[in-house]
Amino acid sequence: MSAQSNLLRKLNIDFANKTPAARRRRQMAWTQRTRHLVQLGFALFILISSVIHHTAIEDATTASIDALCPFGGIETLQRWIASAGQYVPKTHASNIILLAALVVGTLVAGGAFCGWVCPFGAAQDLLAWVRRKLKIKEVVVPAKLDRILRYGRFVTLAVILFQTITTIKLWFADFDPYRTLFSLDWLYEFNWIASWPAYLLTLGTLAATLFVERGFCRYACPLGGVISVLGRFSLFRIRRVATACKGCAVCDVPCPVKLNVAEADVISSNCIGCMACVDSCPVHATLEMKLGPTWLDIVRKRKAGTPVAAK
Ligand code: SF4
Ligand code: SF4
Repeated sequence: MSAQSNLLRKLNIDFANKTPAARRRRQMAWTQRTRHLVQLGFALFILISSVIHHTAIEDATTASIDALCPFGGIETLQRWIASAGQYVPKTHASNIILLAALVVGTLVAGGAFCGWVCPFGAAQDLLAWVRRKLKIKEVVVPAKLDRILRYGRFVTLAVILFQTITTIKLWFADFDPYRTLFSLDWLYEFNWIASWPAYLLTLGTLAATLFVERGFCRYACPLGGVISVLGRFSLFRIRRVATACKGCAVCDVPCPVKLNVAEADVISSNCIGCMACVDSCPVHATLEMKLGPTWLDIVRKRKAGTPVAAK
């Protein structure tokens, strides 16, 4: 029996399976199935693009996955602005367009890109599923250490931007675990001598995320860092109605990025919008994705002198 079911049983919450909350959970089950289908669709799109790129007869006619990544837009942005329209080699206008779409999407739906679109996020979700199936014990990072390690995303981002701007090349492409895995270079152009750092880093990252769920997203992904900052201003955010909440912490259990949902009024901008917590809450209308800029909430509550908890 899962930890979540155990908790529910202990707390004797909603076991009749006929309550509004149970109906709600059944209705919401489609969310996770839809999410996995969407993730699969994007991952297949990137993999097929890589196959086409590698098997094309004329090399310059098909896009590499470098041109299909919004993070490429961040890497090339400074050069694009400073040189009035030139790009860092291997990046294109498509990167700037995807970055603009990501910014708009994040300002509307927070970190949903990480939970629904990113193929490397999907790969990590797959590894978490494998871990659960094989009954491998998850490594739980203590809350204090987790908070510190999350700054790793900004360290990675700063190093990448510094190196890209000073060398005017797509420096991170030689190390990026996402690119290494999904470009399929390891399949079509395996080169241990030239690419061993990328292979080892990718294998190490995948091995680590087998034990630490979404470990790369939480501690190392530079794009995740940017999204979490922008997500603070998103129009939609999951909120908990403290007066209805039973404090059972059932919602904490399925969170892939290990957020403290049960104690937050407004869920952290590190949320990847997977909706698993909303699905799992046994109390009707207690955890909900709501429209309305969070910053306005915070301003209102601060004016009224009420503290706001965002975990
Ligand atoms: S807080 Fe909820 S929606 Fe956000 S990542 Fe965690 S489980 Fe998913
Ligand atoms: S919000 Fe979380 S802690 Fe509160 S009732 Fe729902 S599952 Fe339990």
